[in-house]
Amino acid sequence: MSFDSLGLKAELLSAVQAQGYTSPTPIQAKTIPVILEGRDVLAGAQTGTGKTAAFTLPMLQLLSGKAHGGRGRLPRALVLAPTRELAAQVHESVRTYGKNLHMSSTAVFGGVGFQPQADSIRRGVDILVATPGRLLDHSGQRTVDLSQVEILVLDEADRMLDMGFIHDIKRILSLLPKQRQNLLFSATYNDDIKRLADGLLNDPVLVEVARRNTAAETVTQVVHPVGQSKKRALLAHLIKERDWKQVLVFTRTKHGANRLATQLLSDGINSTAIHGNKSQAARTRALADFKNGSVRTLVATDIAARGLDIDSLPHVVNFDLPNVPEDYIHRIGRTGRAGANGAAVSLVSGDERDLLNNIQKLLGRKITVEEISGFVQEAASTQAPSRGPVERVFVNPKRAGGGYGREQSRRDGQGRRYSR
Ligand code: AMP
Repeated sequence: MSFDSLGLKAELLSAVQAQGYTSPTPIQAKTIPVILEGRDVLAGAQTGTGKTAAFTLPMLQLLSGKAHGGRGRLPRALVLAPTRELAAQVHESVRTYGKNLHMSSTAVFGGVGFQPQADSIRRGVDILVATPGRLLDHSGQRTVDLSQVEILVLDEADRMLDMGFIHDIKRILSLLPKQRQNLLFSATYNDDIKRLADGLLNDPVLVEVARRNTAAETVTQVVHPVGQSKKRALLAHLIKERDWKQVLVFTRTKHGANRLATQLLSDGINSTAIHGNKSQAARTRALADFKNGSVRTLVATDIAARGLDIDSLPHVVNFDLPNVPEDYIHRIGRTGRAGANGAAVSLVSGDERDLLNNIQKLLGRKITVEEISGFVQEAASTQAPSRGPVERVFVNPKRAGGGYGREQSRRDGQGRRYSR
């Protein structure tokens, strides 16, 4: 399958080619033709599947084919995203893929100045990418007019609902023309999403691609049982002994992220935290430092990490297991992207056993348990973080640097073979 067969115009194909993409991802192959037909779409796709290009490319094409409406240059496409980072990244994609088209776009989100955004909208935009709260601020100040929107995209709709944006979304919908094309992207499908989709979409085409947990065979998953009080020492040990250069670490709370980043710094590991209480400038800087390698460990909360586009991230660590099992899949989706190998490591204390069981239920498989000598709390090790036949591997810390790597191959609880 090649991009040429999807019906995209030459200006878009050359932009795609410039990115080095040779063939469309499954979500792109399925959604681009139906969006070009003008259909509403309900797409189940997670970050890392290429979903951004799946809606951005046809959206650009549809808009570029039509003259703008009469009154100035009002937004004709609106993309709503849950977080500032995701909005910024979607906007970046719009610019990247639309570079050969004469289209104007801007992103509006909180945490940065309001007036420059208002000025940018006033100068005229075809495509507006926004987080719901800031968009409503602009609407309230009458700095944006949504009356000409023809295409609405809800990106990561499930996360927007998780973050409590349902009322904001409804208010925004009431500001849009009734006649429009609607595209809803969501990693998970539940009753809330179904209700939203039912009220929003008109005879939608349903598109689903394999979940990353089944698709991402390139991600190695392992659980290290550890006492809560030893987690930080184990993490520092793993990073140093295994010489991990770029590690995304998840904690459950903002406070926990700050504290861990500070502690790792005192362990001699260059670290920083990223979460919702940080200013936009601090978050942008943290991400840039992490991407360019000057920060080795980025400690993040789920919401802050959502949608971060970091290519080929080699290591993701669950310092705390997430309360919601789906978040585990979102987290490990940060690694092993675009065919690169990745490792997802979970540090699991005895009191997180139920959380791990729920995750394993969702995955439909057991995760390999590997005990690291000197870090296993008595209670945690005997209670084992999972039910059923789980392989346990003992790794001597002296060997740990090389013990976790290419040469071994194991079977998981269901007899599936995978390498670790
Ligand atoms: P997304 O799911 O939109 O966050 O995209 C995940 C990553 O895949 C991004 O880094 C994109 O640049 C990349 N990507 C998108 N489409 C393709 C493609 N057809 N081939 C290879 N990489 C792609």
